[in-house]
Amino acid sequence: MTTRKTLNRVVVAVKQVPDTTQVKVDPATGTLIREGVPFIMNPFDTHAVEEALRLKDRFGCLVTAVTMGPPNAAATLRRCLALGVDDVVLVSDRVFGGADTLATSYVLSEVIRRVEKEQGRVDLVICGKQTIDGDTAQVGPGIAVRLNYCLLTLVDRILDINGAERTITVRRKLEGRREVVRALLPACLTLVREINEPRYPKVPNRLMAETAEIPVWDNQFLQLNLSRVGLKGSPTHVKKIFAPERARGEVLGDAENDPEGAVALLIKRLIEKDLISVGR
Ligand SMILES: Cc1cc2nc3c(=O)[nH]c(=O)nc-3n(C[C@H](O)[C@H](O)[C@H](O)COP(=O)(O)OP(=O)(O)OC[C@H]3O[C@@H](n4cnc5c(N)ncnc54)[C@H](O)[C@@H]3O)c2cc1C
Repeated sequence: MTTRKTLNRVVVAVKQVPDTTQVKVDPATGTLIREGVPFIMNPFDTHAVEEALRLKDRFGCLVTAVTMGPPNAAATLRRCLALGVDDVVLVSDRVFGGADTLATSYVLSEVIRRVEKEQGRVDLVICGKQTIDGDTAQVGPGIAVRLNYCLLTLVDRILDINGAERTITVRRKLEGRREVVRALLPACLTLVREINEPRYPKVPNRLMAETAEIPVWDNQFLQLNLSRVGLKGSPTHVKKIFAPERARGEVLGDAENDPEGAVALLIKRLIEKDLISVGR
């Protein structure tokens, strides 16, 4: 007799992003200055990988990490392998370049269908809440809709997975409150950072990952409709990127040596700006 595993396979979606703490905007062209900027795994996605690995530790399921990006995104998948995921897929082809969230979630949902065909039943898709470059938080919901999976966003705890009932119970982190929700599997989760503390890869695993072969799925393999991928399949265009100008601060008086004088100047300035009035 064969018993159905509680979880068979979890797919985790990871994006390689420029380290935005080091990205600057060229004020003349309004484009990002990327030269010399290191690429990292989107920080939210490190928590997605960790949560998938915790499910693997708990239920013995298999984990596949997928990323859509240029060939150098293989580095992010190597990190996933070093951390302990079982399989990786780099979705890379020039025709996928310039994708907005509509095209990205279309391609990723088709990739997940293909993972299911090639690697067996997928029970969960785990995404980060959002990326630190595009920042839209739309890709997870877009995948769920296309695959007709239950969507659970802003998850800060997986409370239970019931294999017999095929359900998952999670806690969602909402503004000023928490919400506990039970949904049917298969489901697509987007995670907040508070869910876990990502582990570090062990040195032998890092060495193994450095030389591992990274499977690349291009459009010759996926055979997706060209009008729905890349720039052609992307109705959203970023018209301009700019850093908002910050108001400059003003130092009034000499607060260190003459605090009373500085306060008097501040009050005068607030009255001038009609921000306070002095009662008679
Ligand atoms: C500065 C900037 C601004 C942009 N603004 C927009 C915009 O306003 N509208 C728009 O449609 N597009 C925008 N884009 C394009 C956007 O980067 C792509 O659409 C991108 O592929 C997905 O959008 P996102 O980064 O916002 O992902 P989000 O929806 O924020 O990502 C959520 C999660 O989805 C998964 N995921 C996202 N992308 C991938 C991927 N390529 N591979 C694997 N998993 C992934 C990850 O788990 C991630 O944590 C912008 C890009 C940049 C650099």
